[in-house]
Amino acid sequence: MHENNSTVTDNLPQVAPATLIEDGFVYTADDRNRVHPQGSVLLLGDRIAAVGPSEEVAREVQALDLAGLRRIPAAGKLVLPGFVNPHWHESLGAGLAAADQNPDDTGDAPGPFAEGGDIRALSAVFDAIPARTQTMTPDEALAIARYSIWTQLRSGITTYGDVGSMNHSDALFDATVQLGGRGAVSHWASDMVCPQGTSTPKRTREVAEITDPLRALLDRAAADPSGRLRVMPSAVYVTNMSDDLGTALAELCTAEDLTFATHAGALANEPAVVAEYYGTTPIHRLDRLGLLNERLLSVHTAFVSDSERELLLKSGFKLSHSPGKYGSTGESPISGSKLIVDLMRAGIPVSVSTDGNAYPLGMIETMRMAWLGHNEVWSNETTVRPSTALAMGTRLAARCLRWDDQIGSLEKGKQGDLVLIPATDWRYLLRSRPLDGLLSTGSSNDVDTVLVAGRVLLEDGRSTFLDETELRTRFIDAVTSFTERSR
Ligand SMILES: [Zn+2]
Repeated sequence: MHENNSTVTDNLPQVAPATLIEDGFVYTADDRNRVHPQGSVLLLGDRIAAVGPSEEVAREVQALDLAGLRRIPAAGKLVLPGFVNPHWHESLGAGLAAADQNPDDTGDAPGPFAEGGDIRALSAVFDAIPARTQTMTPDEALAIARYSIWTQLRSGITTYGDVGSMNHSDALFDATVQLGGRGAVSHWASDMVCPQGTSTPKRTREVAEITDPLRALLDRAAADPSGRLRVMPSAVYVTNMSDDLGTALAELCTAEDLTFATHAGALANEPAVVAEYYGTTPIHRLDRLGLLNERLLSVHTAFVSDSERELLLKSGFKLSHSPGKYGSTGESPISGSKLIVDLMRAGIPVSVSTDGNAYPLGMIETMRMAWLGHNEVWSNETTVRPSTALAMGTRLAARCLRWDDQIGSLEKGKQGDLVLIPATDWRYLLRSRPLDGLLSTGSSNDVDTVLVAGRVLLEDGRSTFLDETELRTRFIDAVTSFTERSR
């Protein structure tokens, strides 16, 4: 028998007054992608006070005469900025239903995202999610959210951007606070569907059902002393957003200076269907609604017209794509248009992200696919270098959330969010560039140490403060009772 989840109180580890991460192979992911093959990072409290070659940082440490200095030996380890996952959906509540799949995959048929996408069917799938999520009890929601946030932290993701989740926004917020992570929380937004057999979209809920919870989240974030929680309004798809909702979200984001995220131009069949139901294509529609500007985080964005491309370039928008996920769903934003690299070369901040799934997805694997996938498509191994892939999962990802003043690179003044990964085993012999080794043969499970805001949350691949067995048991209990009820 477990205690009620709402009584869970975690004792987050203390932030040491000073922490020295010593003698690692430091990739700063700063705007010059500087590396220090024998480097150290000094934190004072939650912030980075020095980064550089070990001898230089050691001299600063000596000059400061620090009492209570905590040393974290990093020899033989990669020292990276915490991974930032700007496009994610908490969706592990779907895990048990997905576990009913036939273990034999040979009979699988293409799904709704495949071959350009069945856009009308997807609009109905997306619109059905809030009703299903409402059947989750608050305790189930929190247990699932806690496990889900744990999978992020365990794989080195110190910051996530929620683009709408199959969970309660409050549970995500609470889980992030309790587990010591960092995130921009959203609320699932869909108030329209595009039904088969007609060209008129159908209204499914009131705008206030989406904007009221967002305002409540804003109040919670404003009252949270940690500074680790933000709010990111989103719309799941341009097919699923009324003009009223789009206008209301634009007003909210302008008034509060919030990043707005949506999937747009993600699938080859999407522009024609959006034009059929709304009279214009996705990017033009975002523009008309006041959503195409520097606050926009547009996801996948590969299938746009020439005029939309021009609008995008002028807007100052940010783009995140999820190359680790496309192959599993039959999506083709990389090979299908080649637009993402074009936009990147034109100066648009392009990041990688995991997107959502019924099972955890990792950023190391996603960075690998950005490196290898784009280079294969362009037949050029310098199109996306390993250091670019890392920046896409750190600094550029933070830029996409407009959080890069605080996180995303190892630079003086930024938050102490770091990931350490051992790099001395058989995979790394004779490599002068261990990042290449990580992206070639590494996985999320190789992450060894994670710090968020100077707090050590993971050490030797284990939580420093959570009972992992209990976390897992509560998750399985919650996902089982939720699934049984909603069958
Ligand atoms: Zn997504």
